[in-house]
Amino acid sequence: MKISSAKFVISNSDVSKCPNSSLPEYAFIGRSNVGKSSLINTLTDNKNLAKTSGKPGKTQLINHFLINNAWHLVDLPGYGYARVSKKDKKTFQKYITQYFLKRRQLVCAFVLVDIRHEPQKIDLDFMQWLGENQIPFSIIFTKVDKLKPQQIDTKLQAYFEVLAANWEAPPPYFVTSSLQKLGKEEVLNYIGSINQS
Ligand code: GDP
Repeated sequence: MKISSAKFVISNSDVSKCPNSSLPEYAFIGRSNVGKSSLINTLTDNKNLAKTSGKPGKTQLINHFLINNAWHLVDLPGYGYARVSKKDKKTFQKYITQYFLKRRQLVCAFVLVDIRHEPQKIDLDFMQWLGENQIPFSIIFTKVDKLKPQQIDTKLQAYFEVLAANWEAPPPYFVTSSLQKLGKEEVLNYIGSINQS
């Protein structure tokens, strides 16, 4: 799939105020600093669509972008940043939970995971929760340029071994680098193939 247009629509913290539209939507979520904004900018060929920032945990809103006038890309806040207060964490959890449980237009969540790190409890718990609530998701491994090809394979194998404890079949996954624009076509073609089916 080629992206011919990408426009910001709305930011909010209330799922009932998300766009009143039946277009399919795809949400991107992951730990703060995982490379989510960079990936969104790479996918959309737009340097500034999602705000990359040196301050993890800053984007605390549900951000809708209209892609090709055909689907919504949803940039969700990064989770797991230690410097966010307990109160903010609770508020965040509440509206993100509401988003996933109530947003009927959601087709697939992309959970971003930094390929370099050991499987993190917060990500595994989140995937478990998505599964329990029957919300389809895929994993996007980020920053693979930081590893050698062989290390990538070892990391993937280790990750899926951990997932196998809870999942009979592993979710679809993508191996990406925003720096090298790796995995971009695969993610976009995946979205395109679901939209057409
Ligand atoms: P977010 O907090 O998840 O939105 O993460 P950002 O996109 O703002 O990226 C966090 C940091 O990781 C920044 O310093 C980026 O330059 C860096 N980064 C993001 N993607 C990549 C990547 O594919 N490769 C490398 N080497 N660094 C990346």
